[in-house]
Amino acid sequence: MTSQPAMTLMETAAPARQGSVVNIERSERELRRQLTRFSKWMYRLGFAPGTSGNLSVRLDEESILATPTGCSKYLLRPSDMVIANLNGKLLSGTRNVTSEIGMHVAVYAARPDVQAVVHAHPPIATAFASCGMALDQPLCAELLMTLGKIPLASYATTGTDEVGASLEPYLLDHDAILMANHGLVTYGQDLLDAFMKLETTEHFAQVCLAAHQLGCATPLGEEAIGKLQQARLRYRSNCRM
Ligand SMILES: [Zn+2]
Repeated sequence: MTSQPAMTLMETAAPARQGSVVNIERSERELRRQLTRFSKWMYRLGFAPGTSGNLSVRLDEESILATPTGCSKYLLRPSDMVIANLNGKLLSGTRNVTSEIGMHVAVYAARPDVQAVVHAHPPIATAFASCGMALDQPLCAELLMTLGKIPLASYATTGTDEVGASLEPYLLDHDAILMANHGLVTYGQDLLDAFMKLETTEHFAQVCLAAHQLGCATPLGEEAIGKLQQARLRYRSNCRM
C-alpha cells in the first residue's frame, strides 16, 4: 500500500473557498430570478403600469440587488438587475439605479431585519394616498393582526432625501406605508413576504372603498382591537426571530 502524501494547507483550503464563491454566485442568481418573478407578478396585478415600481433585496451586508430604472416590470430579465451599495450608488450592472433607491436604502438602514423592499402604485391604495387618507380604520381583523394600521407618509419629491425622511417616523412600527400622492412601500424578511404585504394592503384598500360605498362600514370596538394588537405583537416577534 502506498501512503497518500499529506495535503498542504493550500490544497485543503482551496475547495472550501471555491465552494463559498459558488454558493454566493448561486444565491445571487436565485435572487435575480426572484426579482424577475415578482416584477412580472406585480405588473400582471396592475400594481406597476408603464415603467413604475421597483423591488430590491439584500445581497450581503454592504449591497443590495435591485430592479433598474426605466424598464417595464413585465419585460425584466435576471441580467437587467443592478447592484447598489447601501447609499444607493451603482456598483455593477448594465442599467441605472432607480431614482427611488433612496426609499429602499432608508428602509434597510432603519430595519436590519428587513431583507426585501417592494414599491408600487396599486390603484386603490394609491387613490387613498392621493386623497390624504391613511388605511387606518379598524375594519378587518386579520389586517389589524398582521400589518396593523397602515399610515400615510407626507408627500416627498422622488429622488430626494425627502423620501427617506418622510418614511422615517413609521419605519420601526410598520411594514407597509402609504406615500402621499404617490404609492405604497412594503418590506419584509424576503421578497415573497414583502410582496404579500403589498397585495394584502391593496386588497384592504379595496375592502375599505367598498365598505364606504355601501355606506355602513362598522369599525371594530376597542376591546377587539386591543386583543388583535396583542396578537400582532406575538405575530411580529415570531416573524422577526
Ligand atoms: Zn413610485
